[in-house]
Amino acid sequence: MSDARRAFQLSIVVPVFNEAENLTALVARLTPVLAREAEEWEILFVDDGSTDESLARIRRLNAGEPRVRAISLSRNFGKEVAIAAGLDAARGDAVVIMDADLQHPPEMVPELLKRWRDGHAVVYAQRRDRAYEGPMKRGFTRLFYEIFARLGETQLHEEAGDFQLFDRKAVEALRLLGERARFSKGLYSWIGFKSVGVPFEVGERLHGKSRYNYRKLLHFAWDGITSFSTVPLRVWTYLGVFISLGAVITAIYFLLEALFVGVRTPGFPTLIVAVTLLAGVQLMSLGMIGEYIGRIFAEVKRRPLYIVAERVGVEVVKPLSGAPPTVAPRHKD
Ligand code: UDP
Ligand code: MG
Repeated sequence: MSDARRAFQLSIVVPVFNEAENLTALVARLTPVLAREAEEWEILFVDDGSTDESLARIRRLNAGEPRVRAISLSRNFGKEVAIAAGLDAARGDAVVIMDADLQHPPEMVPELLKRWRDGHAVVYAQRRDRAYEGPMKRGFTRLFYEIFARLGETQLHEEAGDFQLFDRKAVEALRLLGERARFSKGLYSWIGFKSVGVPFEVGERLHGKSRYNYRKLLHFAWDGITSFSTVPLRVWTYLGVFISLGAVITAIYFLLEALFVGVRTPGFPTLIVAVTLLAGVQLMSLGMIGEYIGRIFAEVKRRPLYIVAERVGVEVVKPLSGAPPTVAPRHKD
């Protein structure tokens, strides 16, 4: 037992969406690790509107080990918001976020803590390989990161997922970011601080299938790019200027031709092409502007990021950002 073991409190935040079969195994594997690493610890589940037995399972786990706690959101808000809720409720000096499906090995936690003790405020576990994902998903993922790196004003931590450790000050920084479209990978690196990556092997999902389908992933990628880059907004302006210049040059050419050679063709096809092209560009740029206006609209409404429906062993959830949280009754068993 080292001094470091006593000196701090450790929180493990786990977003949960229909993971009933995985929770007991996760707690069983986490508990011995935590007991070794920290005197004070908690496992904080954020039930993201599960429709299965997850919450009941958590209650049972809480009865056996009061340091297993939870907040339960009133519906499925998505993993990103669930994590934000978890950060609001976590008490630890160090907070580790990990998945419920044991793809993030609990045995890695000491490794993350070691780097934290070295003075890093953000320690991200880096996926060494993505063999567990199909080639198509991997291809799309690579494409997304490629595009993001070229467009984004924020560089993402390489190969970092949601298995990360944050120091209290990084947690407080993340809590200040009250945006609705939450692309956490971007936020994690946007907050800055001394960061370091630790490679790890992604495990197999214990039970069930990935909660992400292509539609959800596409939505996620789109959120990421539009939240962290204004290039999609600007690129249409450049294209518009370029095409307009081309149109002016063409017009001059036709004028000169009419003056010196005479009108050879009525020019009808050219007109049609030009008009259609410009109309297309205008529609695209309008679409992009609409996208951002949609975002402004969402931000202006200032809805609470989530609504806590129930708390298990958690006293208060006090978000720094956004509207005050709904006060929900404490769960009693
Ligand atoms: N998750 C969540 N809300 C959702 C989808 C997923 O809280 O709407 C949780 C899920 O329970 C798991 C983690 O996020 O703990 C990662 O989900 P999953 O394993 O399905 O994603 P993948 O490993 O395929 O990226
Ligand atoms: Mg998973």
